[in-house]
Amino acid sequence: MLEINDLSMSYGSGTQAKVIFRNLNCTVERGEIACLVGPSGVGKSTLMRCIAGLSRPVAGTVTLDGAVIDRPHKDIAVVFQDYGRSLMPWLSVLGNVTLPLRHRIADGGRRDSAAEAAIEAVGLKGHERKYPWQLSGGMQQRVAIARAIACEPRLLLMDEPFASVDAQTRAELEDLTLGLRERLGMSVVVVTHDIDESIYLSDRVVVLRGSPAEVVDTLAVPLPTPRDQIATKSEPRFAELRARVLHEIRGERGAAPARLSLVGEEPLQRTSIAGRTA
Ligand code: ADP
Repeated sequence: MLEINDLSMSYGSGTQAKVIFRNLNCTVERGEIACLVGPSGVGKSTLMRCIAGLSRPVAGTVTLDGAVIDRPHKDIAVVFQDYGRSLMPWLSVLGNVTLPLRHRIADGGRRDSAAEAAIEAVGLKGHERKYPWQLSGGMQQRVAIARAIACEPRLLLMDEPFASVDAQTRAELEDLTLGLRERLGMSVVVVTHDIDESIYLSDRVVVLRGSPAEVVDTLAVPLPTPRDQIATKSEPRFAELRARVLHEIRGERGAAPARLSLVGEEPLQRTSIAGRTA
């Protein structure tokens, strides 16, 4: 559904140009959650901005169901880390969630209904009239998520969405994200530096490394669903995947530990490196 084809991106020009990635390839299937992980500064947010149509790549294309994305698209919604700056402090929760619907739904009553449904879906029913500054950080990020899903996007992009909240809230927001994907069927791409989070959320983890960045691996996550914060993270396969992703990020692929084999367990699937660099 989402295809990143030979994507190249640089900042600056001439001898000052800094190449962030070159000829990057990756795909995300319909309804899939994919996490982008990699060292800080590798280019995850830059790639996310290209997917969102917020940055123009130097070469290559991003396509959504075959349509080239070269500007913000109505079927792609973005949730950023910094909810404090992405919400309008002078608008209520309902006002914030309604805002992007103004160009889509002419009828005010229908617009409010769509926004209220999204607010309910993120667990904030009853808080519609409050202002962002009256809410905790986690609740504000729920408002940002409600605003994103109110538009019924085909693709939800989340850039370090839970990095500014405490651990308990983070776990709740991870489960909220999984539940929304289940209910709404959209594809989700999450940038995170948290390896446990990437495995917990993902159907596959895309590992970026190097400068210019390459997709060094794409790992399928064959953990059962629905996921559970305690049971899933206690699975031996979870620990094995975590070690493998960490080794990939550090560039220690050859040093990855041997499979902790358990009788009767499926071996880990490694996808046929859907992401590769030419
Ligand atoms: P990550 O999200 O993996 O931490 P980023 O995509 O934010 O990485 O940044 C990748 C590299 O590009 C970093 O070296 C960063 O300093 C640089 N960079 C990001 N945005 C810009 C910009 N607008 N202009 C110049 N350099 C940038």
